[in-house]
Amino acid sequence: MHVEKINASPYDSNIYLINKKFLIDTGMDATTLIKELEDHLDLNTLDTIILTHCHFDHSGAASAVAKESGAKIAIHEDDAECLKDNSASAADIFGYKAPNIEPDITYNDGDKIQITDDEYLQVIHTPGHTKGCICLYEPKSKSLFSGDTVFPAGSVGRTDLKGGSAEKLEESIEKLTRLDAKVLYPGHGNVSVDNVNGQIKQSHQAAKQLKYIQL
Ligand SMILES: [Zn+2]
Ligand SMILES: [Zn+2]
Repeated sequence: MHVEKINASPYDSNIYLINKKFLIDTGMDATTLIKELEDHLDLNTLDTIILTHCHFDHSGAASAVAKESGAKIAIHEDDAECLKDNSASAADIFGYKAPNIEPDITYNDGDKIQITDDEYLQVIHTPGHTKGCICLYEPKSKSLFSGDTVFPAGSVGRTDLKGGSAEKLEESIEKLTRLDAKVLYPGHGNVSVDNVNGQIKQSHQAAKQLKYIQL
């Protein structure tokens, strides 16, 4: 698996280009992202835009990139509706309207996204930050794209926005502790290769505490 990390604008989520065909999240700044992508590939070869969740800082540029490239947009089925909701998509926080996307593909837990003949991304439904958050796991390189569910150094995504749940976040991160992960590609911040399983365990502890505070 070939991964390129793209940062379009300071408030944007991380954007990952996989094998020059799949994009994980898009940030909000379509103009900059499209220019950046054109340095990496012929836009028409982009296959699918996979959104880790509906939040505007991850999905705001998706429509424009899909229109320009012809790529399909995919999201977990539980976050599809939130793309049309100003508050559940957190668009209002950023001073925008909901991205209003009709996704071409909706995922369920356990789906496999084939990225080459012998490599796939496994869809792991990880509600808590939003209802339809997903993490993506690539078993060959043991890579985890964690969206806003876990961040390096034991951090976790916030659960106080519409659709969030501290209890569900704890359960979701517990699921992630059962993986063997060597590379962590978070939705914000730096990529990490340093004892990733240990970092996920720390995030699980943090989520447990968060759950008791919010109960
Ligand atoms: Zn985010
Ligand atoms: Zn988010």
